[in-house]
Amino acid sequence: MSLISTIIRPEILAQSSYHVPDAHNMVKLDAMENPYPLPDAIKAEFGAHLAHVALNRYPVPTYRLLKDKICREFGIPAGFDVMLGNGSDELISMLSIACAKPGAKVVAPIPTFVMYAISAQLAGMEFVGVPLSEDLGLDMSAMLAAIQEHRPALLYLANPNNPTGSWFDEADLLQLINAMSDIGLVVIDEAYQPFAPSSMMPRLPEFAHVIVMRTVSKIGLAGLRLGYMSAAPELLAEVEKVRPPYNINVLTAAAAEFLLDHMSIFDEQAHKLCVEREALIKELQSIKNVHAFPSKANFVLIKIENSEQIFKKLLARRILIKNVGKMHPLLTNCLRVTVSTPEENRLFIDALKATLLEA
Ligand SMILES: *Cc1c(COP(=O)(O)O)cnc(C)c1O
Repeated sequence: MSLISTIIRPEILAQSSYHVPDAHNMVKLDAMENPYPLPDAIKAEFGAHLAHVALNRYPVPTYRLLKDKICREFGIPAGFDVMLGNGSDELISMLSIACAKPGAKVVAPIPTFVMYAISAQLAGMEFVGVPLSEDLGLDMSAMLAAIQEHRPALLYLANPNNPTGSWFDEADLLQLINAMSDIGLVVIDEAYQPFAPSSMMPRLPEFAHVIVMRTVSKIGLAGLRLGYMSAAPELLAEVEKVRPPYNINVLTAAAAEFLLDHMSIFDEQAHKLCVEREALIKELQSIKNVHAFPSKANFVLIKIENSEQIFKKLLARRILIKNVGKMHPLLTNCLRVTVSTPEENRLFIDALKATLLEA
């Protein structure tokens, strides 16, 4: 056996690395990015702001100014604080590390965001996925049974869910939160909150074991790598101990501090994307043999015969979407497309129609 294969943990040797396709020259509709660049009107001011950042200094490790602005702009309940991550990916990873006692488990409905399982496994925890129902909603009896059987340290609920776009009822979430109250922590992942009808954030003070997690990635700042989460202060204080002291770099912090004073830009873009989402769903539903699932996020899941072939033909037409057909049996023949500008959505629809005609 080679040195590498004896030293590296077997569960890591067994994993395949996260594949990111080459998007050069593509209409990029695969990663839920906001298509709108920063408006020219604020670019110069933004540049000047960043030019004053002290790159020779470590970040101020409390990140107090940035956290205060996040609390103010994103409706964090009074008396509650946030913890920052290098993207919410890092928050998920830190939660795993904090909870990875021997035998500790992580539960989530599946298909869902893949990092919950990957991060659990990297931390040495068992991940248990509970399949969604056929209509991609929560299978409540299976969820409640899994909670009793596995007694998970962490339960993840992405709402809206990725890659399905499903929106879970607050009553169902509350039932799962109650079922978990003497068992483990519940993470409500609101990565798509700007496109969703409501949030759990205001109800956070009612629970000692609930974490609400969000990111600025999907509202137009994916390149910044900034996620945040809030929870009861006693809980947050423990997870904070896992955080590397300077995990948010000075440029990200300075950029976010500046942009949080211009949130109306991103709110307007999110609103436009919601309008576009409904138009896109309607258009997709009018195409024969295409089923578009309802979505409360900035993407739409579609089911279509020969999805594999359609995906490849769209690629040939320089349209990059996400092929999720192999993720889970519930997603057989499914593709996921990010909602973009009216122009890019049109390019996608036209390419899809042309592809279907060829078939
Ligand atoms: C995109 C996504 C994230 C990751 O966000 P980053 O802050 O970019 O790491 C987290 N959760 C869900 C459900 C997502 O879809």
